[in-house]
Amino acid sequence: MMMVIRREDLKRIIKAAENSRIEICSMLFGRRNGERIEVEEVRFVPNRLNSATAFEMEPVEMVEAIDLAEERGLEVVGIFHSHLKCPPRPSGGDLKGMRLWPVVWLVVDEKGNYGAFVLEKDKIREVGVEVV
Ligand SMILES: [Zn+2]
Repeated sequence: MMMVIRREDLKRIIKAAENSRIEICSMLFGRRNGERIEVEEVRFVPNRLNSATAFEMEPVEMVEAIDLAEERGLEVVGIFHSHLKCPPRPSGGDLKGMRLWPVVWLVVDEKGNYGAFVLEKDKIREVGVEVV
């Protein structure tokens, strides 16, 4: 599986992570072509936990973001969030979220490192990221 994301979209996410004292989060919208996930749109949703170690998307904004994307024919292809002072890999808490949202999970840190992951048979597998 491969996730394709535009450089400016990835930069926006990393910049937001660098500038935030809490975890940033939201969804990646786009299209899925077999093993290829194409991110077309990034929208930010506030982290309602206001926490540096966990996130939960504000539900009203989350539903609005999904509606807007669906109007444009896009689906939720990924979830992204940031880690502060810990590696950009899914945590134990993220694993629970990955079971609820079986899409690609993009994790970034405040230094600009990132990784993308999916859950397969309850195992975390890294996904390649192609920046275009
Ligand atoms: Zn996390």
